[in-house]
Amino acid sequence: MSLASAPTAQSHTIRQDWTKAEVEALYALPFNDLLFQAQVVHRQHFDPNEVQVSTLLSIKTGACPEDCKYCPQSARYDTGLEKERLLEIEKVLERAKEAKQVGSTRFCMGAAWRNPRDRDMPYIVKMVEEVKALGLETCMTLGMLTRDQAVALKQAGLDYYNHNLDTSPEYYGDIITTRTYQDRLNTLENVRAAGMNVCSGGIVGMGETVGDRASMLVQLANLPEQPQSVPINMLVKVKGTPLDNVEDLDYFEFIRTIAVARIMMPKSHVRLSAGREAMNEQMQALCFMAGANSIFYGCKLLTTSNPDTHEDVLLFKKLGINTERTRDFSDEAHQQVLEEEIAQQNESDKSELFYDATAAKPQPAVAEA
Ligand code: SF4
Repeated sequence: MSLASAPTAQSHTIRQDWTKAEVEALYALPFNDLLFQAQVVHRQHFDPNEVQVSTLLSIKTGACPEDCKYCPQSARYDTGLEKERLLEIEKVLERAKEAKQVGSTRFCMGAAWRNPRDRDMPYIVKMVEEVKALGLETCMTLGMLTRDQAVALKQAGLDYYNHNLDTSPEYYGDIITTRTYQDRLNTLENVRAAGMNVCSGGIVGMGETVGDRASMLVQLANLPEQPQSVPINMLVKVKGTPLDNVEDLDYFEFIRTIAVARIMMPKSHVRLSAGREAMNEQMQALCFMAGANSIFYGCKLLTTSNPDTHEDVLLFKKLGINTERTRDFSDEAHQQVLEEEIAQQNESDKSELFYDATAAKPQPAVAEA
């Protein structure tokens, strides 16, 4: 792409008529051209140096009847995962307060369910009300939702509902057989109709083709309203799940997926989601450059590991990225501590200035309900 064909403000109004061929053409751009285009779009709609931060908590773990082949929470796979019953509201509130203290603005609660039962709803509604009362944005991922359940959650104050499309419609049957793609679209429709923000994205690196990645993004971008939040997960493999031995995806393909999502959904928050722990700082910086502007804080994503919050704060400091957390910590004393720690880390990092894909270790995959 030449500079003459670089995107302009006009060329990047929201479009919901993307074709797979157009998206494949974006994927096929030279890497630098794609990133440049994504940056231009990103800067038209967001502060390029600001990242939104959420915290995710598993409120009910494991024993899920679904068969999502990437997921350690499915009862069908022996992954050694410790099951947990629905958490007490007091415990959820403790974790929500901690999340707020470290600077998260949104608290996401996930339950490994096919769908919530109606008898669970009063308890879930109370949980939302009480987390919301702490002054946090609220998000839940509980599986499929009926229209009435979506309305009840909205009335309780739920701001976002997460329900991922996971992959393309073409590849979907290879990954999940216990619910249909249409079931997923129906849940998104119920969430939208209830007036909640939609959080929906997918997982890459599950053995899909670039055409599948393009097709998944077409599905997301062409929804009646583009999701406000689009998590892009990198599969990290869990022993015991059917995708344990799937071939690794080249990290440049992951960055391309972030960039293409940014171009197609210019006003959405694109979240650099699962798989981040295996990514070094340089890889994450490229993802931010490609247009990712949301992450999860906290050492755990539902059942799997995530970088330590402190490491994220240091990385943001190095990159000059602001979050509400770093703004809160803009006092001189804290700045000094951060600077000292960065200096120390730089000393020990000198031998790792460049990203080495072979150094990335496989991590357990995150579960997405
Ligand atoms: S991804 Fe969600 S629905 Fe699928 S098995 Fe895991 S917890 Fe269940």
